[in-house]
Amino acid sequence: MEKYKLYINGEWKESSTGKYFKSIDPSTELEWAQFSEANADDVDYAVKSAHTAFKGEWSKLLANQRGSFLRKIGDTLKENAEHLGAIETRDTGKMYKETKFQASYIAEFYYYYAGLADKIEGSTLPIDKSDMQVFTTREPIGVVAAIIPWNSQMFLTAVKLAPALAMGNTIVIKASEIAPAPLFEFAKLIDKIGLPKGVINIITGHGNECGKILTSHPLVERIAFTGGVNTARHIVRNSAENLSHVTLELGGKSPVTIFKDANIENAINGVTASIFGASGQSCIAGSRLYLEDEIYNEFLEQLISKTKSILIGDPMKDETQMGPLCTFAQLTNIEESIKKTINQGGKLIFGGERYKEIKQGWYFQPTIIACENHNLPAAENELFGPVLSVMKFSGEDEAIKLMNDNTFGLAAGIFSENSGTTLRVSKAVRAGIVFVNTYRLISPVAPFGGFKNSGFGRESGLETVKDYSRIKTTWINTSKKIMSDPFIIK
Ligand code: NAD
Repeated sequence: MEKYKLYINGEWKESSTGKYFKSIDPSTELEWAQFSEANADDVDYAVKSAHTAFKGEWSKLLANQRGSFLRKIGDTLKENAEHLGAIETRDTGKMYKETKFQASYIAEFYYYYAGLADKIEGSTLPIDKSDMQVFTTREPIGVVAAIIPWNSQMFLTAVKLAPALAMGNTIVIKASEIAPAPLFEFAKLIDKIGLPKGVINIITGHGNECGKILTSHPLVERIAFTGGVNTARHIVRNSAENLSHVTLELGGKSPVTIFKDANIENAINGVTASIFGASGQSCIAGSRLYLEDEIYNEFLEQLISKTKSILIGDPMKDETQMGPLCTFAQLTNIEESIKKTINQGGKLIFGGERYKEIKQGWYFQPTIIACENHNLPAAENELFGPVLSVMKFSGEDEAIKLMNDNTFGLAAGIFSENSGTTLRVSKAVRAGIVFVNTYRLISPVAPFGGFKNSGFGRESGLETVKDYSRIKTTWINTSKKIMSDPFIIK
């Protein structure tokens, strides 16, 4: 049984209550690890450590020196990708071939922001006063609280940690209470790279205790949150306590639309990647599929045949295409939603049940439900599982209307060989990320984030780094004269 302590101020520490909680391997349903659960005192200690580090040694480093630390984090990820991948697979059930690849690719995010650390410049202003020289600089904000969900943790941590450190902030990362092991293995690696104590702190605990205390802590000035929309509402309320700058990366119910002139084989692969990749446990999962009426039957037939061939199994095996779901709660939530959808008229086309060929583990069949309208439960709400709702449309205008008719706006997929169609639709769709004739890609260069209930702020890309800074404006009086009437604003 693995036992993980909290990583605070460069040391491993048991929570002050000595309480531990357990994690279950979703492929075996067996308890495999325990985690020290942070309480109010531990959170306070972590934030104060980050604050002391912010005011101390870390703030004295030059930007390129901070960059070199980020490069070291990238190097250690690449060197330990297999180990990190195996741990993430054990804890979350996500396939090893993806977790291993991701751990290594995530290094690129650290390299990207390492390069940016010394390229964020201020400016000299063309000020409208002859005796003033005025310039701006970008300053770090202070202590960042990063709240991470259980899926894609290495990625969702990198897009917060790397720009935060590049700009000179310090951080407390709260790993989810579900499957936090990858972040504590990551802590073991960063512990070896010689960062000043307290620059990175990694804790875990329950959201409504540890998460709440962290995001309302008076010394926290920036909150970067990824998770569900209901939790986000708590985060915004918590931030009323410290008036932090908040960014929210939330859920989605992303539409994928196939026009009749699409390359069908490519579109089938796109749909498969969008909803069955990572067993649909992705915030950008393309869970609403719209098919133009002329190709509806043919496309669905081919999709069913592709779905039938998906290999479900041990997430550690290379040939596996879909592993288990991460938690039992997801499994039952998905079952309930499918049941309600069918009761309300949805037609089950494929799957819809637990995968019984494997006796242990939270496996669920890839599922396709045909829906007359997209107001049915499975077609409307985020399920975070391999459940695809399929609807028909007629023409571009209806496609746009349907794609936008949901409270979320994270991602969208458009498949068509007509570039006019793809450009018009991608412009009209209210989503932060649009994939044309492809799906499910990430890059440190490409901003990531949503519209509407999918949140605000962006992660990855050049502009993000500025979100971890504040502009300071400095006025310098160049006049030889003494200041005139001090009672009038100039
Ligand atoms: P969740 O909202 O339940 O939990 C996310 C994190 O918030 C956890 O660390 C949890 O402990 C913490 N938390 C819970 N209550 C809190 C509170 N009151 N105060 C502070 N923190 C609190 O989400 P989840 O189930 O772990 O993850 C799945 C969700 O995340 C889905 O909705 C998914 O779409 C979303 N997600 C979004 C993105 C994105 O980039 N847009 C990426 C991945 C996942």
